[in-house]
Amino acid sequence: MSTTVPSESVPRGAGSRGAQYVYFFGDGRAEGRGDMKDLLGGKGAGLAEMTNAGVPVPAGFTITTDVCRYYYANSHRLPEGFDSEESEALARLERVMEKKLGDPHDPLLVSVRSGAKFSMPGMMDTILNLGLNDRSVQGLAKKTGNERFAWDCYRRFLQMYGNVVLGIEKEEFEHRIAERKKKRRVTQDVELNAEDFQTLVAEFKAIVRKHSGREFPQDPIQQLHGARDAVFGSWMNDRAVFYRKQNRIPDDLGTAVNVQAMVFGNLSEDSGTGVGFTRNPATGQKEFYGEFLMNAQGEDVVAGIRTPQPLASLKKNQPRVYRELHEVTRMLEKHYKDVQDFEFTIQEGKLFLLQTRNGKRTAAAAVKIAVDMVEEGLIGEEEALLRVDPASLDQLLHPHLADKVGLPELAKGLPASPGAAVGAVVFTADEAAERGGKGERVILVRNETVPDDIHGMTAAQGIVTATGGMTSHAAVVARGMGRVCVVGASDLRIDLARKQLTAGGKTVREGDEISVDGSRGVVYVGVAKLEDPALTGDFGRFMEIADKHRRLGVRANADQPVDAKKAREFGATGIGLCRTEHMFFAEDRLPHVVQMILSASTYKAQEKALEGKRGELARETGAKAQAALKKEIAALSKAIRAPEKAYKGAIAKLLVAQRRDFRDIFLAMDGFPVTIRTLDPPLHEFLPKREELIADVARLETELALRRKAPPSVARKLREKKALLARVEELHEFNPMLGHRGCRLGITYPEVTEMQARAILEGAVQAEEKGAKAYPEIMIPLIGTVEEFHDQRAIVDRVAQEVFQKADRSVDFKVGTMIEVPRAALTAGQIAREAEFFSFGTNDLTQMTFGYSRDDAGKFLPEYLERKILPGDPFVSIDVSGVGRLIRMGTDEGRAARPGLKIGICGEHGGDPASVEFCHAAGLDYVSASPFRVPIARLAAAQAVVRGKGKGSDNR
Ligand code: ADP
Ligand code: MG
Ligand code: MG
Repeated sequence: MSTTVPSESVPRGAGSRGAQYVYFFGDGRAEGRGDMKDLLGGKGAGLAEMTNAGVPVPAGFTITTDVCRYYYANSHRLPEGFDSEESEALARLERVMEKKLGDPHDPLLVSVRSGAKFSMPGMMDTILNLGLNDRSVQGLAKKTGNERFAWDCYRRFLQMYGNVVLGIEKEEFEHRIAERKKKRRVTQDVELNAEDFQTLVAEFKAIVRKHSGREFPQDPIQQLHGARDAVFGSWMNDRAVFYRKQNRIPDDLGTAVNVQAMVFGNLSEDSGTGVGFTRNPATGQKEFYGEFLMNAQGEDVVAGIRTPQPLASLKKNQPRVYRELHEVTRMLEKHYKDVQDFEFTIQEGKLFLLQTRNGKRTAAAAVKIAVDMVEEGLIGEEEALLRVDPASLDQLLHPHLADKVGLPELAKGLPASPGAAVGAVVFTADEAAERGGKGERVILVRNETVPDDIHGMTAAQGIVTATGGMTSHAAVVARGMGRVCVVGASDLRIDLARKQLTAGGKTVREGDEISVDGSRGVVYVGVAKLEDPALTGDFGRFMEIADKHRRLGVRANADQPVDAKKAREFGATGIGLCRTEHMFFAEDRLPHVVQMILSASTYKAQEKALEGKRGELARETGAKAQAALKKEIAALSKAIRAPEKAYKGAIAKLLVAQRRDFRDIFLAMDGFPVTIRTLDPPLHEFLPKREELIADVARLETELALRRKAPPSVARKLREKKALLARVEELHEFNPMLGHRGCRLGITYPEVTEMQARAILEGAVQAEEKGAKAYPEIMIPLIGTVEEFHDQRAIVDRVAQEVFQKADRSVDFKVGTMIEVPRAALTAGQIAREAEFFSFGTNDLTQMTFGYSRDDAGKFLPEYLERKILPGDPFVSIDVSGVGRLIRMGTDEGRAARPGLKIGICGEHGGDPASVEFCHAAGLDYVSASPFRVPIARLAAAQAVVRGKGKGSDNR
């Protein structure tokens, strides 16, 4: 395909007459080009590009997004000079088509279509058959010799105009059509005849009169302007606004308007309309793929009312048209170097293309297509990397149904969007949104979905429809959102009134659980077992390409040996954060943790008293006083024995358990570094809640008071609960986030740091004795001053010496710190002189930099985002200008003090593509993410390299 633009069609541009507001296309030439999406919208740019390439496209003109923006900025007025450009373009269109708008004998009809820079399928509005009125409908009938067709067109126009321009509910019209069919005892629209449509036209005009208080406008220019402004208006309809929010498309881009000569798929039996893809958008298979309906117009195919036929049957019916379509679209794919999603219409055996765009696809398809296109030589590796949205990989990493499901089958349909979902059945989008919003897993089951259902589809795990094909609204939207979807499960009978459905003799009520297999198109009754995904094949090949291009290392946050295994499977080359306290919650450990906490304060108090007395004794010279002190010391030494035993005994028990965990993690991560953080959270988190304890104490006290002979166990329990309560009250903090936690614990309870260092290093020794290579990195949390670090590091070093001496072998290890208190970032140069690595704990660093408690931010953050006081949630994507500045500063000063200092981040941001890109740019060594997000981070890191070379492209 040639991309050269004939010279006479070069835009008239800024030179002589200022901005150009209208771009013509037709007669084999277009003023616009494919790369003018900003101005012409995706659809307009595509129509121009196709026209220039010689593809058969009905002529028309595009009104630019500039006009739309002007329209919104100037209370719905249009820019100066626009009017004359518009009438000029219309006159040119009339010349090219040799027909006039509104001509009573042979009218030109046009469509008025929306189209923004990023495609928003079905979100905005389009009006077909514009230009018809009471007179020209007669002319159209005479000219085509087809009364039925002419009246069908007119009623469709009234319907769309009534809905889009005049705001009348679609149902008003649909209802009349249904009544008409009932009266005539037919079920399909195609069975209605010319008289039926004539009657409907009269009824529709009455509806318009009733709702708008005016006659339907007969003047085609008035119709055109009404439609144009309504398309501008549809940019801000609820659906479009919601869709943009979901897809992070800015609100101020505006839409273009395309006015285009109509071609008619509903003119005859050898006319039709369809949509297709150059490759399968669900699987990525290289197959020509699509659906069509004969004798139909526009949205009929995707509306899900008539079930369309696969393109393969077009090959049988109209082999010549099929061949041409195949060739043209293959050429388009080659030209755009991407899968094309196209719309076509056949008018009396002649093919027209009405739209082409880069096809939306599932993550699985995106990966396969990217890998295949590299192999076909169509695109390079770097471009391939940009073709997959990192966040979408999430879809591939989650489980699917096992081969043997072992559940009763409810219904079969088409596999519209792959993966597996289990959830409770709901029948309305509102219900789905409500339950889903509460975190419940739901499956939305409907006859068909409509654009207004989008909020429910977002909230559902899966979507099932009774009608519709692979390109129905439900299918397209589900694939775009990565929701599991089965469409056209035609056995389903939904009874909305009774909130139940039946299929294959089974009844399922609202709230019952079903399982949906979107890869095979089957729905089951009950909860199915899910299986792990395959990380080989196309996925494996794609990730290999990513690894080849990235610089940034990717580690995983993993607390247990099983997570560590998962992390390796997902390609992590190390653990960036192992939170030791997560192991404390296990049943066999928690009692020891509680015992440690309970005895700690008594032990510490007595230890202090004892030390005090010993000091006094050393200073005392009088023999009598010395004797008295000695007596006191003896008594104290005896008294301390019990709490000491409790405290150190509990710690010893924890040592055994932790050592085993660490050994297994080192074994799983053989050869890769493992960063282990010492105890971090405030101790009260390990104890029961204060309110619960108060209730327990009250209950036990009443029991003791009321029951004359309460068993001794009640009194004992009461004593225990009271002791716990006292300790919980003692530990109470006004602001635990900024309280006694992190290294502050390790400094006041050095025995804990000592035990953890011992467990880590002995675990490492044991793993090496089993033949693995261990790289422990001991990480001290919440450092704010270098002295804090110094204190903890001394403990670790002392323990290391002891352990290695005793084992008679040593292990490579590092001691470093988390940078999560702003002061640490500000004094990174000092800290780096002692610390061997940094890991930015971006969760806490964000909390403390903003001064937002993450647990309380829910009260105001949503409003901040809504009102754009913050551009995004800083807990999701790193706040580059604030938190990011601290990271850069800490990195630069840290490396200045210790060249080659190893630096990474841990925290939720490690799996967020934008944050990964920032970390790459800031020169960090690695990011660490939860295991499921490791592949996302690997791809984002590779994309950061490609984008850094200025090879960005928008592939939405
Ligand atoms: P969307 O952006 O929602 O897909 P479109 O503007 O593409 O909306 O139009 C909706 C439907 O009308 C599509 O099926 C399209 O092919 C059809 N259509 C639009 N313009 C014409 C035309 N000039 N002739 C025939 N069909 C048209
Ligand atoms: Mg379209
Ligand atoms: Mg922290």
